[in-house]
Amino acid sequence: MINAVQKIADILKEHQIEDAKLEARMMLASVLNIDENNLFFTCPEPNAEQKKQLEELVAKRINHYPLCKLLGKKGFYKYDFVVSEDVLSPRPDTEILVEAAIAYAKKMNAQKILDLGTGSGCIILSILGDVEKLKGIALDSSEKAIAIAKQNAQHLGLENRIKFIHGSWFDEEIVSSLGNDFDIIVSNPPYIPSQDIEHLEEEVKNHDPLSALDGGIDGMDHYRKIAAISYQMLKEKGYVFLEGGIGQEKQIAQIFEKEGFVLENILKDYGGINRCIILKK
Ligand code: GLN
Repeated sequence: MINAVQKIADILKEHQIEDAKLEARMMLASVLNIDENNLFFTCPEPNAEQKKQLEELVAKRINHYPLCKLLGKKGFYKYDFVVSEDVLSPRPDTEILVEAAIAYAKKMNAQKILDLGTGSGCIILSILGDVEKLKGIALDSSEKAIAIAKQNAQHLGLENRIKFIHGSWFDEEIVSSLGNDFDIIVSNPPYIPSQDIEHLEEEVKNHDPLSALDGGIDGMDHYRKIAAISYQMLKEKGYVFLEGGIGQEKQIAQIFEKEGFVLENILKDYGGINRCIILKK
């Protein structure tokens, strides 16, 4: 079986796929329907049908179809999340925001959290999973994304602690329906400047929803709106946790400071990029 992994890895590597061996293992485990960690212990030979499936996976992958969307799931923080082309692929960089929000939620004994642009739900569901009494509301402008997030809530047994709302933060009626008693607001909004989208890697620009990437001319459109609506939705001394793009942290902080927030902290992701901006009401 190690040979099967190696064979797939070699093809992936020829096509400049990083982490070729890991991806090959994940593909094989998925097709054989066994846990990747058990690959070395139980290793049935792929049958003809499974070999065909593997060939199809490899063919799509070398055309830069993202692995997680081929396999339909992505590991993020502590869980596997269902993903599709209707949601942004969860990124390890975002785990930093999740860890910070969990620590704050526990310390301040938070009761209620809002996620603006929930996508797969990976952020808010990871937080709810670790903070027992917390309840959440998750907003997304994509109905298809909400369907995926609901599946994830159910898989994690969190469906009774979260309410999903379909709509946009540019819609005043929707915003006023969310309420104004949140302890914490989290968001990983679209932040790529429109003209930079064509330069993103193919996995991203062709397979993440454009609506989850495009932040307008300067990438700040959604932060401006979120800053304008979130102050009144938060309780006194509430916090906002935002993800930002490379080099955007100061501009994001300023946009929120203008609305009355105080910068609490900026956290780096695993790659050393200033990724998570924390602001206090
Ligand atoms: N992190 C994504 C990327 O750089 C963008 C996600 C977003 O706009 N929120 O590809």
